[in-house]
Amino acid sequence: MPSSHASFLSSCNVATRLLHEARNRTEHGETSDAIFPTSGFVYDSAEQAEATFEGKVDHLQYSRYGNPTVDTLQERLALLEGAEACQTTATGMGAVSCALLAHLRAGDRVVASSALFGSTHWLLTSLLPGYGIETEMLDGTDPAAWEKALSRPAQAVLIETPSNPMLDVLDIRHIADLAHKAGAIFMVDNVFATPIAQRPLELGADVIIYSCTKHIDGQGRVMGGAILGTKEWITETLQPFVRNTGNTLSPFDAWVLLKGLETLKLRVEAMAHNAALIADALSSFPGVTRVLYPGRDDHPHTAIARAQMSNGGSLIAFEVANGKQGAFACLNALRLVSLSNNLGDARSIATHPATTTHKKLSQEDRNNLGITDGSIRLSVGLEDAQDLINDLKQGAEAARNVSL
Ligand SMILES: *Cc1c(COP(=O)(O)O)cnc(C)c1O
Repeated sequence: MPSSHASFLSSCNVATRLLHEARNRTEHGETSDAIFPTSGFVYDSAEQAEATFEGKVDHLQYSRYGNPTVDTLQERLALLEGAEACQTTATGMGAVSCALLAHLRAGDRVVASSALFGSTHWLLTSLLPGYGIETEMLDGTDPAAWEKALSRPAQAVLIETPSNPMLDVLDIRHIADLAHKAGAIFMVDNVFATPIAQRPLELGADVIIYSCTKHIDGQGRVMGGAILGTKEWITETLQPFVRNTGNTLSPFDAWVLLKGLETLKLRVEAMAHNAALIADALSSFPGVTRVLYPGRDDHPHTAIARAQMSNGGSLIAFEVANGKQGAFACLNALRLVSLSNNLGDARSIATHPATTTHKKLSQEDRNNLGITDGSIRLSVGLEDAQDLINDLKQGAEAARNVSL
């Protein structure tokens, strides 16, 4: 692509850029992105192979190191995020684990908010300490806790905002300042917000992490992960780790994710629009005792949400009457919303965190995160909003009517 065309595209809006940037067409001029399902690449001569391994010529070596379809996805994600570079991984957890393990060494210290995706919580509490890495988890919504924890040196800070599953919204800019003063690299898992609704690099983050399994695919087909950051950190710190440990995204999955990106903005905005209507409706149902949605004025961190997010997102946490029995009655009554622990899908999905995604946490940890037995996490999809409201209404009624 001539660079003048690239700079023209960079002045376009996101919806346009998602369709036209980093096209990397072959000589056939295909409309859709090409897919290269190949493990290896052939050299014209032994000399060319030697020069490739010496880094003197730009030739693909092996799909664990680079593949045209995967490279196109990385290029398009980097352009979308405004990052210098991107490295994809086989799953979102591949992205979280590679980012941490590539950066940290024995004796280092990580500070993280405690409201995290279940496997990320396991990495920090069970895996890293065994490698001699000190981890400290804190209430990410408490500015004083961050100030205290980052008053001494740390090598990495990791947060999720909005967080899983209770949708705490953390102040990215404030934490970025403290992380940098402590000498830490600041990583933000931006899965719940998506690149459409929140731009952590502009708020001071150094590294952005995605599970592409969620909104980027958004149609429940493939798994994938992405890590974005500076060219120096991605190529010198992250890439050797990812390439040599083999956390590689398949070309086919990369191609599906490229297709997902084409409609990302459209889907995320339609889902957030639905979610706002549904959150309002839920808060009026007698069987619902609490609604947490970052786009509502009664969200505890509404000011931060408005300052750093362009919409309230597609996830809602709500609590129904009558605890676990109420929650189960509600979930079992749903006819349209599926019971599944995925999220960000075109189809609406509900899950009961206390008995599924957050079951491994102690009762005390669940209490601290606000996960009650009646809490339900709802990932709002692309169905008609009124159909979803009707479905949830009879779910909430079922919760209210359980006889304890
Ligand atoms: C799903 C998810 C992950 C992990 O992604 P996988 O693709 O399932 O491995 C990490 N962080 C958050 C916030 C997630 O929602």
